[in-house]
Amino acid sequence: MFDNLTQKLTQTFKNLRGQGRLSEDNIRDALREVRLALLEADVALPVVKDFINKVRESALGEEVVKSLSPGQVFIKIVNDELVKLMGEHNDRLDLSARPPAVILLAGLQGSGKTTTSAKLALWLKEKEKKRVMMVSTDVYRPAAMEQLAHLGKDIEVEVFPSRPDQQPVQIAKDALEAAQRGVFDVLIVDTAGRLHVDAAMMAEAQALTSAVQPVELLFVVDAMTGQDAVNTAKAFNDALPLTGVILTKADGDARGGAALSVRAITGKPIKFMGIGEKIRKGLEPFYPDRLASRILG
Ligand code: GDP
Repeated sequence: MFDNLTQKLTQTFKNLRGQGRLSEDNIRDALREVRLALLEADVALPVVKDFINKVRESALGEEVVKSLSPGQVFIKIVNDELVKLMGEHNDRLDLSARPPAVILLAGLQGSGKTTTSAKLALWLKEKEKKRVMMVSTDVYRPAAMEQLAHLGKDIEVEVFPSRPDQQPVQIAKDALEAAQRGVFDVLIVDTAGRLHVDAAMMAEAQALTSAVQPVELLFVVDAMTGQDAVNTAKAFNDALPLTGVILTKADGDARGGAALSVRAITGKPIKFMGIGEKIRKGLEPFYPDRLASRILG
């Protein structure tokens, strides 16, 4: 994901490391380059501005100019701010609700909701030893319902049967009842998306949220969509009480902007990252510190 960004930052830092002492001019030049690199990586403009201000504040303090290895100190400041920007630590799923804990996935069509439902189900089953049920409420795309049923079979996770002629809210309520009866720990509700943000989709997601009271309402977003990812995240966050974000397709050649902006724009943590089409090994908890290290090469 961050290849270009890493390349640009590495070059900037290399120039800095070459300097025995750093002047304010050196630091300003470096900040300008970091700013450009972030913008090119599709990080949202207000996020970049804020980030650069914070780094500037720390870097222009006595610490950097006077230190014996100013380049190193500058890099550490950038690293620490990157970690903060992405949310500091890994935010785990909150499954403490009385079972079944409901996880609802919302997002645009094609963002990876259905695939992510199955990935998450498998992760909860294998890593957390949970009994998981899944259900699709996407009555507009019978293929999506079939896809989830098929994935469930593949990973041996129960899928509550649903049909296109039913109402999404009714499906979700019935699935919740079935999950209660069957003593499942978790119910994952896959919802219908649209190609673009749209009032009907939001109204339906809101109705589903009221009906099944998810403990986790996760917004699924495609990292490849760059600046659009941030705009979409904002629209979903304004309309729904999101508890977190799953960033999909982080394995692709996305420029990384979404990973760096979404937290700051929505205030919600990225909890997982999709790293491949495969259900097995295609999902990873999101660790800001590991990603910051990766970005800095
Ligand atoms: P939905 O419409 O939101 O339910 O999206 P789907 O789950 O059907 O996914 C759309 C496409 O994205 C499918 O071809 C998935 O295989 C692909 N996809 C989902 N997650 C990832 C990911 O993390 N990495 C990659 N490379 N592809 C993904």
